[in-house]
Amino acid sequence: MSIRELLRDNIRSLEPYSSARDDFSGTASVFLDANENWQDFVDFDNINRYPDPHSSAVKRAVSEVFGYDERMVSIGNGSDELIDIMYRLFCTPGRDSVLIMPPTYGEYKVLASINDVDVHTVVQNSDFSLNVEAIKKALDECSPKLMFICSPNNPTGVSVPFEVIRELTEYNRGITVVDEAYLDFSSNRSAVDLIAGNERVVVLRTLSKAWALAGGRIGISVTSPEIADLIYMVKYPYNVPLLSQAYAAAALSRADRVRKEVALTVAERERVKKLLEETEGVHTVFSSDANFLLVRMNKAHEVFLELRKRGIIVRDRSREVLCDSCLRITIGSREENDLLVSAVREVLGGV
Ligand SMILES: *Cc1c(COP(=O)(O)O)cnc(C)c1O
Repeated sequence: MSIRELLRDNIRSLEPYSSARDDFSGTASVFLDANENWQDFVDFDNINRYPDPHSSAVKRAVSEVFGYDERMVSIGNGSDELIDIMYRLFCTPGRDSVLIMPPTYGEYKVLASINDVDVHTVVQNSDFSLNVEAIKKALDECSPKLMFICSPNNPTGVSVPFEVIRELTEYNRGITVVDEAYLDFSSNRSAVDLIAGNERVVVLRTLSKAWALAGGRIGISVTSPEIADLIYMVKYPYNVPLLSQAYAAAALSRADRVRKEVALTVAERERVKKLLEETEGVHTVFSSDANFLLVRMNKAHEVFLELRKRGIIVRDRSREVLCDSCLRITIGSREENDLLVSAVREVLGGV
């Protein structure tokens, strides 16, 4: 199906808002077109002006750092905004559906509920690989508008092999959203390489994890230029604040430092994995391509509560399908990780 056919009916005929900065984006000496205040009271350059609706400087820096064609890049208020935009572009409330493969990122389902869109699920295999045959069957039977593949996956840390992603994106007649929030920590090939041959592939990245900018809310989508234009049409005109655009460009100019830190995080992840594996009461530390570990242990919920009493907060994932008795533990500084490991050992010795 073409992108146009997949769109929500009302979006196909949408007359988009045109902001002052859409109508005029050149240089001038006097701007009296957007009802802004001519002065600022807090001493931050240009804070009295609306931010660039295109996030052009961020887009340019992202394209340079990751090697993308700039026309394929959109900047969102976190990837969460971009996921929501996918629903608003393609899913008619009360009629359409999406496909997810639990255990995975919770926002896909929450945003489906908010948009009144049905969710079909194909649970992963017990080793957290995707059940490809069952997914194909669900695609045949349910014709979802969107399918979400998270790779490396949250909360498991497991990557989906590139060839499996290719196979599923080719089979899916709807849009496949490949969420690569943690790709910086892995050496896997990005699904961005599939877009040239398949305009129904949407890839999401973020500056919230490896780039240490969670507070800046910078999400990135890589799509065909046609979908990028559609995203621009439905997003809030000024979706990314001026300060976030400035800090994002600054973070992206430090790519060398970020890559070094990522390598250290990966080494630290493997060190913590080994320490936890040597811990009495720990059953499995799943191999991870991300900046966290999923750990199956005795009485995970009790351990979670005991760690919390000691001021160490991890994520209890025990109630997620296939994740019984599992905690998700983010890799922190070396000191934080050592504190975590010794606390887990103490608690597991006592529960
Ligand atoms: C953290 C995370 C994101 C990032 O969301 P932002 O809105 O960009 O902060 C996206 N997807 C997954 C799977 C995540 O774990």
